[in-house]
Amino acid sequence: MSYTINNKGYYGEFGGAYIPEMLYPNVEELRQNYLKIMSEKGFQKEFNQLLKDYVGRPSPLYLAKRLSEQYQTKIYLKREDLNHTGAHKINNTIGQILMAKRLGKKRIIAETGAGQHGVATATVCALMGIECIVYMGEIDIARQAPNVARMKMLGATVIPATSGSKTLKDATNEAIRDWINNPVNTHYIIGSVVGPHPYPDMVARFQSVISEEIKNQLMVHEGVEKPNYIIACVGGGSNAAGAYYHFLNDLEVKLIAVEAAGHGIESGESAATSVLGKEGIIHGSKTLLMQTQDGQITEPYSISAGLDYPGVGPMHAHLYKSGRAEFISITDDEAMKSGMKLCQLEGIIPAIESAHALAAFDKKTFQSQDIVVVSLSGRGDKDLETYIKYFDL
Ligand SMILES: *Cc1c(COP(=O)(O)O)cnc(C)c1O
Repeated sequence: MSYTINNKGYYGEFGGAYIPEMLYPNVEELRQNYLKIMSEKGFQKEFNQLLKDYVGRPSPLYLAKRLSEQYQTKIYLKREDLNHTGAHKINNTIGQILMAKRLGKKRIIAETGAGQHGVATATVCALMGIECIVYMGEIDIARQAPNVARMKMLGATVIPATSGSKTLKDATNEAIRDWINNPVNTHYIIGSVVGPHPYPDMVARFQSVISEEIKNQLMVHEGVEKPNYIIACVGGGSNAAGAYYHFLNDLEVKLIAVEAAGHGIESGESAATSVLGKEGIIHGSKTLLMQTQDGQITEPYSISAGLDYPGVGPMHAHLYKSGRAEFISITDDEAMKSGMKLCQLEGIIPAIESAHALAAFDKKTFQSQDIVVVSLSGRGDKDLETYIKYFDL
């Protein structure tokens, strides 16, 4: 079995491009060009240069000694939290802005929920001097004021989505509407391994720099290329896809995906897509998503905004269905406790998304000789308000 995408744009039975006819030319232009552009020497040179000098890559692979001692196994943290803008999302937006330039696009649109992808998109648009429009639900605008301010400072226009539940899925609908109306001059930067083919594959390739670095860095630290386990949190699944990428077809490397259980899987307030989801179509691809009996998308919940998504990307749906990855769900409380533990054992304040990945150590026992790499997808600065409220600091 293969875990990478096939030439029709599917991972197993998941993926594809289920889009309205009006969007077909936009997506088709991208599909026909993305691999060719990504393989150009000039593209690779510019991408790698920016990852190095602007993002600050390679991100360290850090042996967390005190955490390792606590859990009696060897834990390495892949420090995506040290990237410019504080998370892995910038790897993808750098790649896509260069793609947009090569395609001759003069205008960028994006959707954002909590604002992290909006900030990463506004950042690269400022870097390149390209117009940036970010669609964001009206409710999210109200609850994510610092990120709205960041986007504005970076020169982006933030347009409120006022329909439906006024959150991420409505912002996505607005972005798609915009793209249909502006097919020639606009590129739509999607923020995770979701959306119609070729987005999941393109984003996974841009994020695959994470696993490429893990291989090289493990060689230096341990004299081996592969860890025994890789653990990553999954919202849409881009940091996980990046951390898994070069190990996908190497079954010796075990993959663990961590989803947000919110208040608990049975609570009706969660984002544990693999357990609760059924096959369906969301944002242009066939995947697993949380839905009602009659196919309406269920509003997800997690304390962590980045995991608060009702679906997973098609790669992850396939990794789940095939058993290639083990899926674990972690509640708000478990994640917050693990986040605090990392602060106090290692002096690192993690994003609450990443804290979900760390909580896997309380669910699963590893051997003392195992090498376990955790994707520390982002830093906790953005979550300070949530930490303060939760722990009454
Ligand atoms: C957005 C975000 C995530 C979730 O997105 P994926 O596409 O699943 O990686 C995880 N961690 C951080 C820090 C984020 O900002």
